Amino acid sequence: MDHIVSDRLKQAQEEGLVWTVFHAYENSEFYRHKFKTAGISPGDVKGLEDLHKLPFTTADDLREGYPFPLLSVPEREVVRIHSSSGTTGKRKIISYTRKDIEDWTEMFARCYRMAGVGEEDRVQIAVGYGLWTAGVGFQAGCERVGAMAVPVGPGNLDMQFQFLLDLKPSVICCTSSMALLLAEEAERRGVAGELSIKTVIQGSERCGDAMRRAILDKLGADHLHDITGMTELYGPGAGIDCREHEGIHYWADYYILEIVDPETLEPVEPGELGEMVVTTLKKEAAPLIRYRTRDLTRLIPGECPCGSPYPRHDRILGRSDDMIIVRGVNVYPGQIDEILSGVEGISSEYVIELERSGGKDFMLIKVERDPALDSSDDRELEERIAAEVKSKIMVSAQVQIVDYGALPRSERKSKRVFDNR
Ligand code: ZN
Repeated sequence: MDHIVSDRLKQAQEEGLVWTVFHAYENSEFYRHKFKTAGISPGDVKGLEDLHKLPFTTADDLREGYPFPLLSVPEREVVRIHSSSGTTGKRKIISYTRKDIEDWTEMFARCYRMAGVGEEDRVQIAVGYGLWTAGVGFQAGCERVGAMAVPVGPGNLDMQFQFLLDLKPSVICCTSSMALLLAEEAERRGVAGELSIKTVIQGSERCGDAMRRAILDKLGADHLHDITGMTELYGPGAGIDCREHEGIHYWADYYILEIVDPETLEPVEPGELGEMVVTTLKKEAAPLIRYRTRDLTRLIPGECPCGSPYPRHDRILGRSDDMIIVRGVNVYPGQIDEILSGVEGISSEYVIELERSGGKDFMLIKVERDPALDSSDDRELEERIAAEVKSKIMVSAQVQIVDYGALPRSERKSKRVFDNR
């Protein structure tokens, strides 16, 4: 990690790691048991070089600890909980002390500042409020930097447009699917020219270059920033890309980021794709120690042209759980996304369908045609995309170009992979 984390940040990491391990061991039965099983006592961890000795923590650990997993403070110190959706079984509930909320707010404010948001801005917050970390996180950070929060919440296009047109917000915060929906709807309503949005801040949902261009062009905005984070790690606000848009700066004084091979759990070479593993440095109520996020990304070595001391990782390129195996090859949908982003003549929308027939896997990629084109070049486009996929991912795919608007749109995350095997 030496090559990307400055000395000042490294020192913060050393101190934070030693404190976190001691705090967790002393105050959490779960961690004490886990460390003892692994033959570790807190004194064994003196600095970053000892990080690899610590056992991993997983989402299953959180579910098993329901309703207060990883709790490392007396309950009277917990001032709030948040919860993420559980598609199967129990929800994940994360506890926060007053200081945890303060730290999260500070991280989030840093994100807004990096995106150039300040006192003069009006910020329409079009994400979910309530148990979710999204709404309240965006709101707290917004108020901390002194901008005006317009807490519209998700969905409800008529209300979104009422505020977009009457209050003229300069910033909108939403999922990328919602941003695309708003952009297309603005065009449809013929009001795109009346919007004042300069900056779009979107959740960490995967979004390719073509979709980014479509959002920026249709909304007339200058910058689109990806904000990262997850409930386990406070919530959104763990990092954001600066105005150079060359990777996500992450707050290395609040957490350590490791990238490991999801199969072997060994660190990958700097710059290689792997799973993000995080260790918090200040978190009191529910500290994370080598928590496997399942998010795939890579570190970006070197300094950012913006001069920020905070290191960078790439966009989130998918989930290690989303990995699909096609004819024995590991395929991440994010790789398809990256390839399609570089192809002219198609829209940002696509789906991947998997079938099995005669004992063999078949992958079909359906992509929407660019609305400005007719179908005369479909064949050539299909062949070109199939060849790209073959050369970059080593897998044969059939490609089908469909009409613009033929694939489903969603206000929330779009489902891209349909595995019918
Ligand atoms: Zn930068």
